[in-house]
Amino acid sequence: MDAAALAALRAFDRAHVWHPYSSALTPTDPYVVESAEGVRLRLRDAAGDAREVVDAMSSWWCAVHGYRVPELDAAVTEQLGRMAHVMFGGLTHEPAVELSRRLLALAPTGLEHVFLADSGSVSVEVAMKAALQYQLAAGRRRTRFLTVRGGYHGDTFSPMSVTDPDGGMHALFRGVLPEHVFVPRPPGGIDLAADDPALVAWEATTREVFARNAADIAAVILEPVLQGAGGMHVYPPRVLEVLHGLAREHGALVIHDEIATGFHRTGPRWAGDRVTTTPDILCVGKALTGGYLTLAAVLCTREVAEGVSRGAAGGLMHGPTFMANPLACAVAVANLDLLARRDTEAEVARLEAGLRDGLASATTLDAVADVRVLGAVGVVQLREAVRVPEVTAAAIARGVWVRPFRDLVYTMPPYVTSDADLTTLTAGLVGAVADVHR
Ligand code: PMP
Repeated sequence: MDAAALAALRAFDRAHVWHPYSSALTPTDPYVVESAEGVRLRLRDAAGDAREVVDAMSSWWCAVHGYRVPELDAAVTEQLGRMAHVMFGGLTHEPAVELSRRLLALAPTGLEHVFLADSGSVSVEVAMKAALQYQLAAGRRRTRFLTVRGGYHGDTFSPMSVTDPDGGMHALFRGVLPEHVFVPRPPGGIDLAADDPALVAWEATTREVFARNAADIAAVILEPVLQGAGGMHVYPPRVLEVLHGLAREHGALVIHDEIATGFHRTGPRWAGDRVTTTPDILCVGKALTGGYLTLAAVLCTREVAEGVSRGAAGGLMHGPTFMANPLACAVAVANLDLLARRDTEAEVARLEAGLRDGLASATTLDAVADVRVLGAVGVVQLREAVRVPEVTAAAIARGVWVRPFRDLVYTMPPYVTSDADLTTLTAGLVGAVADVHR
């Protein structure tokens, strides 16, 4: 792209194109990405200069094998030769069935039915609908969900309603959003002992709130162990045991939202694998297609599937146009093949060690409140809000693409990031924080 075409593209973007959470009055000036390969994005800056940067974000946590992955490119190309898309009402196809077969083989025990949705938020909508339909069919008019504060489940209305009421958009949409039941955010730390006073206090409050609202609660919904967009907060697996126990006791279902944490991002295949109890409903997305196309899945037990189906509606009441899109399913199957072939757990353990080493020096910076690492997730939390444009620019100058939010400069790198690139990445993040937040 020559300089004039680049300038025109930027001008039209600023004048007409929404970006995530963007303003039409004060539009940001996004970098233009021309192409991406391996773990590198090729950017053009405002001056038109090209620059390659190591990707710290995996395109919002989904491009786990990086970009232009030969096996994934081939899967899309091959499927294009058959059909890009076809409706799923009254029809089925091999990519959808094969993907469902693979997902169920990888899923926690007991999950036997798959709904292939078109994005993470939609999968959460479907999971919540399934829980409500299940309870209704069993003769229980339960219309509320229980969750912990500090979570994030997506931007459509139902996911928004169980996202953190303070950090989310509850104030903005008050009166429109249904009001669900929130218990406090669990205390932080993956290794926190069960008898830690903060955890004991959390459990006591949670038991009390749950018991008080039990007759209304259709399901508990949680991001197991790592709350992502709600603040990159890591909490102990004991929290899952407590909430699973309470759900069973009070006749509520358990929904695990592993859209961000699934496929080994925190170490084990599912973050919820750290406990022996399993969810009734599981949402997966993001890394499901290796970051190629939008696709998510809702997995549920036979008990839930058959319960839903016994209700007056006679089935699970959802059916989007692009349900089970064949291109997305085909690339997801190829992605699962790659994950299996690559010893992903070892890859993530290597990244975890590299992130710990590489980010450790951030603890010496005055501006830094906390540094934490879990699996292939590294977080530098500041004492103040990140100056996002400045930190982003400083990181790019150091050869790294990062997109901080709130007080967090974090990375979820592609699993294929080499040790050398990881060193560039962590040095870039720590250096950018030091450059900007003195
Ligand atoms: N749940 C979780 C835990 C997420 O992290 C996200 C996306 N960041 C979503 C749901 C929503 O997914 P999508 O953006 O694909 O709608």
